[in-house]
Amino acid sequence: MKANREWIIKGIALAVWAGVLVSSGIAFAQHRQYKEAVVLGAGVVDVRTLGDYFEPLKGTTNDCNIYILDSGVPGGTLLIMGAVHAEEPATNLAAQLIVENASATTGRIIVAIHENRSGSTVTRPGDAYPQFFTIETDWGEKKFRMGDRWANPLDSWPDPETYVHYPSGQLLAYMDVRNMNRTWPGRPNGSLAERTSYAFMRLIEEEGVDLTIDLHEAELEYPIIGTIVAHQGALDVAAMVSMMLTAQEFTIGMEISPLALHGLSHREIGDFSDSPCILLEAPEPFLDRVRGVTDEALLLTGQDEFVMKAGEHGLLYWPIDENGWPIDIRVARHVRTIEKITELWTRFHPDEAMVVAGFPTYNEMVELGVGHFFHDPSTVSQDRVAFE
Ligand SMILES: [Zn+2]
Repeated sequence: MKANREWIIKGIALAVWAGVLVSSGIAFAQHRQYKEAVVLGAGVVDVRTLGDYFEPLKGTTNDCNIYILDSGVPGGTLLIMGAVHAEEPATNLAAQLIVENASATTGRIIVAIHENRSGSTVTRPGDAYPQFFTIETDWGEKKFRMGDRWANPLDSWPDPETYVHYPSGQLLAYMDVRNMNRTWPGRPNGSLAERTSYAFMRLIEEEGVDLTIDLHEAELEYPIIGTIVAHQGALDVAAMVSMMLTAQEFTIGMEISPLALHGLSHREIGDFSDSPCILLEAPEPFLDRVRGVTDEALLLTGQDEFVMKAGEHGLLYWPIDENGWPIDIRVARHVRTIEKITELWTRFHPDEAMVVAGFPTYNEMVELGVGHFFHDPSTVSQDRVAFE
């Protein structure tokens, strides 16, 4: 009798375990396979993929779309990379907003919305991340994948005991072998992230990119926040942008890329190509360790009483009040800073002019919301819709 009861309890435990396994497996698969629609703006003349620049990446998870906005007028070429860290959603939203609305009138803009696609196919279940978030548009809700800082272990496994950065030999944390802001300039036979970095370096070379902008968000407990980090090849432009925006529009700092810290975009892209790199950081309270409930609301509003409390105790490097840091402001900061960089780059490098049009103003993005600038994919010809 007693033995029978034991078997029944074991059977129930097994059934519950199998139920959890199957239901979470389905949720993970749905997230991994969900595709975000992108309406190609009038400025987009071609959509390539990263595998066009490095064949072995073709057809893999990280064969991301490469959007070409070409004015047809000779000038400079700007590369914009979003979602290098896919848990920083203002970055892919800013990149997508540019693809859907902007154009170049001199030179070219090249955009990657999900630079490390693999990282956008996984979240951080142990940190209770939501899998998706939605943005209100004029035509309904638009759904996006939330992601993680690192490439998905399903695509890149196992991690080494210690990650030895190539080619510097610097020792980095093991999981950073999947972190696209630690694997520049990459190598053709390395980890997925190293191969993806390598492919972007080939793109930069083949397309003759003159300037690269790498978009990020950071926690307020992190000292590199609300700032521009620039390679020495773009210090003049970055300093002027920081001064002008801070004096006239919003506060944004400026830092010089450290010479001895390896694997980062703002160091290695400039050192290993003809394109200096500028990295932009926006404030994202969702990433703070001291945050409260980690849900979609926090992701979108950036309002959190625990992060505010940390600020009262002087533990933060960036201000926060009850208004938080809403996604509209974070995207607006990125989009406006990019536009300002093109203005200043053109002033300092007239032979590599990048003149852009169709960027909404900072106030328009904050007042109307970024959703206002995403277009309804069901109302355009299907050859003008791409999927991320
Ligand atoms: Zn980042």
